[in-house]
Amino acid sequence: MSKSEDWVRTEAGQVPVVKRADLVVVGGGPAGISAAVAGARNGLSTVLLERYPYLGGLASGGMVIVLDDMCNGSEISVRGLCTEMIERMEHMGLCVVPPEAERRSSEQLYRKWARWGVFDFQSREKPQAICYAAAFDPDGYKRAANAMVAESGVHLRLHSWFSSAIVEDGAIKGVICETKSGRQAIMGSVVIDTTGDLDVAAAAGAANEQGKYIITTVFRLGNVDTAAAERFEYEQPEAFAAIDREAKRLIGGCWEKWWLKTPLPGIVWCNCPHMPNLNGLEVEDLTKAEYAGRARIEALVAYAREKVPGFEKAVVVDVAPQVGIRQTRMLRGRYVMTKEDVVQRRYFEDTVARGRDYYYPYRSFLPREVANLLIAGRHYSAEPAAQRISREIPPCMAMGEATGVAAALALEANVPVESVNIAKLRERLRAQGADPGDQPAENALLMAS
Ligand SMILES: Cc1cc2nc3c(=O)[nH]c(=O)nc-3n(C[C@H](O)[C@H](O)[C@H](O)COP(=O)(O)OP(=O)(O)OC[C@H]3O[C@@H](n4cnc5c(N)ncnc54)[C@H](O)[C@@H]3O)c2cc1C
Repeated sequence: MSKSEDWVRTEAGQVPVVKRADLVVVGGGPAGISAAVAGARNGLSTVLLERYPYLGGLASGGMVIVLDDMCNGSEISVRGLCTEMIERMEHMGLCVVPPEAERRSSEQLYRKWARWGVFDFQSREKPQAICYAAAFDPDGYKRAANAMVAESGVHLRLHSWFSSAIVEDGAIKGVICETKSGRQAIMGSVVIDTTGDLDVAAAAGAANEQGKYIITTVFRLGNVDTAAAERFEYEQPEAFAAIDREAKRLIGGCWEKWWLKTPLPGIVWCNCPHMPNLNGLEVEDLTKAEYAGRARIEALVAYAREKVPGFEKAVVVDVAPQVGIRQTRMLRGRYVMTKEDVVQRRYFEDTVARGRDYYYPYRSFLPREVANLLIAGRHYSAEPAAQRISREIPPCMAMGEATGVAAALALEANVPVESVNIAKLRERLRAQGADPGDQPAENALLMAS
């Protein structure tokens, strides 16, 4: 039983208040880390809540370990906290980025870098150009995130599973978490939902849409002689193609390359198997994904050990502790991004963050129905088809950073979050090294929004 003397009355009874803060961020993934660090660095007392025992979300627990979609040709379009994260991981020797001089299209460079996953996967050019992207180690992401959060003075509460929102007169006042010490309330002047599944906003009554996309049971293999595997690929292309085709059939769903190199020697990342028609919010489907994924991994590894040069001694090092969910609930906010907006690079008057070559309006982080609440990350307000092509880790970090600063500006000016001054928000983001999209690229579609 808590010794708290501060209590809040909820539908489920009295709950102890364990913390009151200016800003409460729920979900410690890429968007949440950025939102919390940005809020704290801009002077807010900030609480970051995370259900699991580590930070990073899909970037660490999901073992999604290439940062991409942050380079518009030669221009780096996502900076700020994402760049800081990359630099911190590079400093630890746990992140590989192709040098600037090698970021272009050439057969030789493609052979050198393609198995790091740092090519422009959206380009139709052959070979695809090597671009600014980062292959990193998942524990490196956790460690860099820990350092950034601690140094910024964020009050971090791990093992805290958000379960319900405290809403009064249409405004969110705090959240309730389930923990080993029972139910706990955390109260905030502004709340940012970065759960990826819109848990907070949906519970608070914000309109949303249920999307669906492939689910992936990501894994890593060790004891791989990657140099031997690459030699085979390029020196015996026909034999390679036949074996690779069978490997892909066995795994039953993957991108063009089923394994990529990582900063750890002999360890490869396998962003597969992809499984369609599963709902990332349903316990039955999540359980099915874990079982079906592992069965396919077993079949692939047995085949690879027998047939793929370089994989003779391969072993499964780990299967990601978090199954790879790309899309579930998404906000229906003040603006809903369309696929055309992303593809046509539509620029908005209230653009405050960028991805590869597309722009995010501040309104896509704002629910219509609930006050004091912001949303950042893969559940932002977008049509499912738009989200599929605008949800990579770097832009999620850019969204998080923008909302953390927006919360600070709202509280400084004593205005609701929807009334934040966009010019000031961009100015503050630019001053701290982020790219808020205040200078649209030449190919941006400029029109009144
Ligand atoms: C298999 C796969 C491959 C991908 N490949 C790439 C790639 O190569 N490059 C790339 O850049 N992006 C890739 N992506 C996309 C990218 O990983 C995600 O879109 C991105 O991580 C989203 O960040 P986020 O912070 O919005 O959400 P998440 O990473 O999902 O983080 C959400 C956080 O909230 C926490 N949380 C959720 N619910 C609660 C709750 N109720 N209470 C408390 N905490 C909660 C979670 O534990 C998690 O830490 C891939 C995604 C998948 C699934």
